[in-house]
Amino acid sequence: MKDGIPLRVKVSASVSRGSIWHGAIPIAKLPRLAAVLTDSEGELRVELAAERTIAGAFRLHGSIAGELGLTCQTCMADFRWPLQIGLDLRLVFNEAEERRLLQECEPFLVEDDTLHLHDLVEEEALLAVPFAPRCETCAGV
Ligand SMILES: [Zn+2]
Repeated sequence: MKDGIPLRVKVSASVSRGSIWHGAIPIAKLPRLAAVLTDSEGELRVELAAERTIAGAFRLHGSIAGELGLTCQTCMADFRWPLQIGLDLRLVFNEAEERRLLQECEPFLVEDDTLHLHDLVEEEALLAVPFAPRCETCAGV
């Protein structure tokens, strides 16, 4: 278990070692995510693990959590939105493999045997941010 989330790792070495990472990434260090939030305070708590499945596929799984500053699209108040997502990706090395796996799981195309973990976490968090956020009060009945 390593402390901290490295910027980038080698896929083949991480998978054969069964690497596990956990740590926090300050939102201020994720500019594309910070750009869609009301502020860049706080951090994302991240747990990631690389492993080879029984079938021999390369798998990256884990979770991302944090409180993101969003503006409610109903009452226009700023609020903290709890992000909590799990991810389970199959690491693939070419587009043919990516297309083949698309039906059964979530493929993630790897280039040069390198995973940019911060970019990947930022991308997954961005995908999870609601398009029209609503605060707890407005989302309630
Ligand atoms: Zn609201």
